[in-house]
Amino acid sequence: QAKKMGRNRFCWYHSDMEQQQLDKFNLMMRLRVAVKQQLFTVAYQPTYDLKTNQISGAEALLRWSDAELGVVPPDVFIPLAEETGLIQELGLFVLQKACAQVKLWQESGFLLGIAVNISAMQFKQGDLPAVVTQVLADTGLEAHWLELELTESVLIDDTALVKQQIDQLSALGVRFAIDDFGTGYSNLGYLSQFSLNSLKIDRSFVARIGHNAKDLALVNGIIQLATSLGLHTVAEGVEDTQSLVLLQQAGCSCAQGYLWSKAVSQEEFGSLLAP
Ligand code: C2E
Ligand code: MG
Ligand code: MG
Ligand code: MG
Repeated sequence: QAKKMGRNRFCWYHSDMEQQQLDKFNLMMRLRVAVKQQLFTVAYQPTYDLKTNQISGAEALLRWSDAELGVVPPDVFIPLAEETGLIQELGLFVLQKACAQVKLWQESGFLLGIAVNISAMQFKQGDLPAVVTQVLADTGLEAHWLELELTESVLIDDTALVKQQIDQLSALGVRFAIDDFGTGYSNLGYLSQFSLNSLKIDRSFVARIGHNAKDLALVNGIIQLATSLGLHTVAEGVEDTQSLVLLQQAGCSCAQGYLWSKAVSQEEFGSLLAP
């Protein structure tokens, strides 16, 4: 009996694994097609200046709605795009789209910057400065309006090649932000080694500052650290006014979150700019 159960269990496990592999394979196939046919869109989430309460910029966030699979969230397809190398093409697509769009908004009189997420993989070939330079030339966007968001892990691995590219891009005027700050590494040495402009405080700390004294202490500490290093601070995932007030008191520069708006289409963002 025990043997039989064991075998059944093994079968279960086995088919489960197979199914998972099939799902992943299918997802990769669909992803490849979607990249080739440019089935992605870019959504924009506004960032607000906490002194003026005005929109100071937008973060570009990829969206994929597949005919067969429905909406696939970036947390699922970005790692897959990294694994397959498709992130190169996808990354270029977002950069081009986002820079062209913010240039259009600027031409209609709204001065705002654009933040674009960059994967570690996009530094691997060493040509990111050339790619970005080309995009800026094509779109006519001035470099200082573009901020590239990196996670802490990017600055820890492959330091030499990454640093060289960040230095080149910084020399052009491109800005850099650390995304999801506080969730990566405890070695903060990179903060003084790299030329950075902002720290984005991870949503996991920001979400509960109104309810949890320790989270509030952490966020206050991060803002003090950033400010003393001459960095702007952007709070991610602000969902209520109580948190907003606490962030303002803490001296946080900017914030984004559902309190104002989720990431929206370019048309909807346009109406946020000119209500
Ligand atoms: P991220 O760069 O940290 O982006 C912030 C995420 O938090 C976005 O999720 C955004 O929709 C969500 N968010 C913003 N405000 C709130 C809020 O008030 N409450 C809650 N619960 N969530 C909020 P999204 O769009 O699903 O993206 C997830 C992650 O996928 C991003 O995290 C980023 O790491 C990655 N990603 C998205 N687009 C790109 C891209 O073009 N390139 C790369 N390399 N990664 C991307
Ligand atoms: Mg980001
Ligand atoms: Mg983030
Ligand atoms: Mg994130």
